Amino acid sequence: MIEQILVTPYNEELLEKLKQKTLVVKTDDQDKIQLIHRGVSKHNKLHAIQLNSPIALSSITFKKEWKNIPLCVYSSEFGGFKNLIPKLDILNKLNIRIFLSSDLKENFTGIRILSSLGIACGLFFGDRPIDWESLNDLMHHAIYSQTNHAPIEPFSYVASNYDTSEYIDYNFVYFNNATRYLHLNEKEQIALCYEDLINRNFISTGVESIESIIHKQEYEYHINSRYDVMLSMNECAFCPAFRICLGKFSEEDDKQNGCQVFFSDFLDAAEHFYKRKNNTGNKLWQL
Ligand code: SF4
Repeated sequence: MIEQILVTPYNEELLEKLKQKTLVVKTDDQDKIQLIHRGVSKHNKLHAIQLNSPIALSSITFKKEWKNIPLCVYSSEFGGFKNLIPKLDILNKLNIRIFLSSDLKENFTGIRILSSLGIACGLFFGDRPIDWESLNDLMHHAIYSQTNHAPIEPFSYVASNYDTSEYIDYNFVYFNNATRYLHLNEKEQIALCYEDLINRNFISTGVESIESIIHKQEYEYHINSRYDVMLSMNECAFCPAFRICLGKFSEEDDKQNGCQVFFSDFLDAAEHFYKRKNNTGNKLWQL
């Protein structure tokens, strides 16, 4: 059985109760990163520290002391590239993945810059309507570009893990899939995904209940909930790209000109990558 990873806020009292567990620890304070690393490393396996930065990426003070810390940075904006230049030397040495919000058009360019500089990066989906065209351009760059560049998520995850006979959930890159990650708050209330945590839809309370969660019926319902959309017989049920989207944008108004176009192209790209990797193209008979 795959060990479940707990996604938790930084709270010393809570961490004390989570000894021996594998953790993703979230903070919005960059000055706490070393403190968290020291505290967690003593009794736990640290999967990553997630810094939800309240400031632009280029304003973060990256430190050489973070070198051996698995870091994941979320920022709503790239900021000024000029400010980032003096930090690139350190940034390149860190064990880091940077996510920028889809809400700002400039971030799409920012991600290309980071990737071309060899820094693993990606996009997270913000609150504003998605610019499907820019997203499609970025996906094409991430998967088809022959120039040397670092992985861009979630495209790289889907391309690398795509299998012609399986569904794939790219939410793994956001630590948000209940088969691997559980989400906790400071009151030890536990949810099966980040959205449930925010909406206070908890599956249990108390760290001692963690082990039993996977045996609950609600857990099974949650894991299989992707098929609910099939039952509703809406556009998602007939969407060719369902197996890489899983209906994540089922609230979109104009699916045919938005998410369906993007995810169909994304599926083609994943197929292309899969064939290249497995060399499953048609073989010409030999003369
Ligand atoms: S791409 Fe759009 S229509 Fe297709 S499964 Fe996803 S949300 Fe549904």
